[in-house]
Amino acid sequence: MDFEFTEQEKMYRDSLRDFLKKEYVPIVDKMDAKGPLTRAEAIDVMKKFQQLGIGLDQENARGFVGSPILFGIFAEEVGKVWPSLLTLFGMGALPAIYVPLASDEVKAKLLPRLEAAEFIGCFAETEPEAGCDTSKLKTTARPVGDHYVVNGSKTWISNATIADTALVGVTNTETGAQTFLLLDREVSPWEANELHKIGWKASPTGEMFFEDCKVPKENELGVLMGNALKLGPKLREVLPLSDGFMKLLTTMEPFTAMMTLPRAGMALAATGIAQASFEAALNYAKERKQFGKPIGKHQLIQEMLYEMAVSIETARLLGYKAADAIVKGQPEARKLSAMAKVYAGEMSVKVTYRAMQIHGGAGLATEMPLERYFRDARMMTVPDGTSEMMKLVTGYTLLGKGFGAYS
Ligand SMILES: Cc1cc2nc3c(=O)[nH]c(=O)nc-3n(C[C@H](O)[C@H](O)[C@H](O)COP(=O)(O)OP(=O)(O)OC[C@H]3O[C@@H](n4cnc5c(N)ncnc54)[C@H](O)[C@@H]3O)c2cc1C
Repeated sequence: MDFEFTEQEKMYRDSLRDFLKKEYVPIVDKMDAKGPLTRAEAIDVMKKFQQLGIGLDQENARGFVGSPILFGIFAEEVGKVWPSLLTLFGMGALPAIYVPLASDEVKAKLLPRLEAAEFIGCFAETEPEAGCDTSKLKTTARPVGDHYVVNGSKTWISNATIADTALVGVTNTETGAQTFLLLDREVSPWEANELHKIGWKASPTGEMFFEDCKVPKENELGVLMGNALKLGPKLREVLPLSDGFMKLLTTMEPFTAMMTLPRAGMALAATGIAQASFEAALNYAKERKQFGKPIGKHQLIQEMLYEMAVSIETARLLGYKAADAIVKGQPEARKLSAMAKVYAGEMSVKVTYRAMQIHGGAGLATEMPLERYFRDARMMTVPDGTSEMMKLVTGYTLLGKGFGAYS
């Protein structure tokens, strides 16, 4: 058992740290307070990361979303500095991975956008009446000739307002079956409204509205997966996914498999937020003096530091263990990513709370990044599976068939 990153992973982490320190640490508080990134600002972010070799384009995606440990390192390091940026990559990746499986016409349009880091994607499943329970989506796709006509609305969708491409969950009116459609906004337009939230301030989140929106039938997930099968062994060259992740996709229900990586990523992003607040608290505990000595010499402060350190360490181990299970294509990836998501999300709320407490009055000041850590941590327990649903997924995987508590 080796708890060390490889040399390549360490180099990746260190260059990412240097990049974030130079590009975003100096501006994050001001930029985040400004609110949702515009499309131009989001593209600027994507282009800067691409220079570092991190992106959704075919060349870079394999060493990013296709490498669960590197993706985990990315989530942790970006989580530590500016969690709002994560949805650009995490949610953008979901439509992006299907682009190489689309028709020549769609590929000719979207691949250059991916190459140029000008692709902003979103994944639209949640609806006003379909939150945790997405088994009955009300957004419909009516087959008409060579296309579908989509009607309905989505809510709480990351990047909805600035995205050019979307993977949208729909119910086929003819078969009653649920599926996903890949939408290019120029061909299949949607309207979007911004939603406002307490954390991840720079990450755009919105509602989406589809009114008689025409989507070519060739953009349906079943067709895209059929194209994948036709590629045979060449599929590995086309899809930027690791062998383990491919194994999960073919041995589990595809949506279940697909969510393992974002959940492990969310766990490690929460770990990053907690780590940032912990480091601030540790420094403050050494510097701030009360009762004639640094507050770090008071036992109750040390107890808080202990609780913070041990829970951060536990969350990190769980997060990377989940990522490792995805690398290996192990069925435990489902349980581990769900457990990591709950544990780390809830842990980040407690740790950022304690970091504020250690700072006393200063911890409550809006001038300090602590309040941003706290607000960003609070976001981690809902998207990509609420803590409650992740506990039920864990329960089901522990107990087995017949014990589903939510179906
Ligand atoms: C910032 C943000 C970004 C998001 N990004 C996206 C995105 O990009 N794409 C997307 O599709 N969605 C996205 N979501 C939506 C997110 O996935 C949903 O908010 C989440 O699934 C919960 O749905 P809901 O908000 O409707 O809560 P509800 O489903 O109404 O749940 C309310 C409460 O009841 C609990 N609950 C529900 N059912 C059960 C049960 N069976 N047992 C126990 N407790 C239960 C929940 O855990 C929760 O505490 C995002 C949400 C946020 C806040």
